[in-house]
Amino acid sequence: MKRKTSILVLLACLLTVGFFSSSAFAFAGSEIGYQVRDVGGQMKEMVGNGVEAGGTGTISAFNVDLGDELKARGSIQYRIHSENKGWSDWANEGQTIGDDTNGIQAIRMKLTGQLPYYYEIFYRVHVPGVGWSGWGNNGTPAGSEGFGRNISILQIYIAPAGKLPPGGTLDNVFNQTKWAWPVPGYTGIASDFGPRWGTYHDGIDIPAPAGTPIVSCKNGVVKMANVAGGLGNCVCVQNDSGENVYYAHMSRFGCKVNDRVQRGQVIGFVGTTGHSDGNHLHIEIYNAQDSLTSPWTYLR
Ligand SMILES: [Zn+2]
Repeated sequence: MKRKTSILVLLACLLTVGFFSSSAFAFAGSEIGYQVRDVGGQMKEMVGNGVEAGGTGTISAFNVDLGDELKARGSIQYRIHSENKGWSDWANEGQTIGDDTNGIQAIRMKLTGQLPYYYEIFYRVHVPGVGWSGWGNNGTPAGSEGFGRNISILQIYIAPAGKLPPGGTLDNVFNQTKWAWPVPGYTGIASDFGPRWGTYHDGIDIPAPAGTPIVSCKNGVVKMANVAGGLGNCVCVQNDSGENVYYAHMSRFGCKVNDRVQRGQVIGFVGTTGHSDGNHLHIEIYNAQDSLTSPWTYLR
């Protein structure tokens, strides 16, 4: 009996590992799985983080399994909107929400417990003939409540929040309003913004190995990409939201003046050019009124 159990456990582990490693977006710590059912159909196979679930039918029910690692820190709740029933109550992790006859028009999802401090959840829905909804995020609705159209595909994505260390490099890729972390995978701060050694440090220093990619925090236009005194090889991106962001000490450039850059796009590589005593990114931010501002106003 005991041997039988352990073989079953081993099999389950092997299946789990195989399943999640096949998912395009999967990474350690977010072994979420979810599955959908169409009106009049069977529950389909479970898919992993970021994978589209559904197809051409009309989704009437689904459930979400967070995976053991996330479950240890909290839970997920979700609710649905259908034409006949309006918004449902919140369902809890693992629970199937919906029925066999009513199509789903919109969804909301949120993380609970400690999870909201470490992870963010994004979700969107596809409506035939209409296309994809915008991404819902931490409780905001995705889909349309009054539109009278049902969804055919559901996509859920969980990513580590802004300042988590390596493994979190895909974080917030779908959230365009939030600032991307400029050195994905490196979140240590060697020197903070503010008074330093009798003077003032105009930015924050983020150490990383030479050649580590630096990404633009937001969508914008490259205003400068040249040697700038003590800042060394320096790129300035003027965000569409108005801020001027300086990325300094680069080993080499990944963009040129007047390039349009997207949030998360590589604009250069970590180095130690200019007045610098080691490989790091110095990032310095001027707000839309052109006043020097703490990067922590925007980054978290
Ligand atoms: Zn600095």
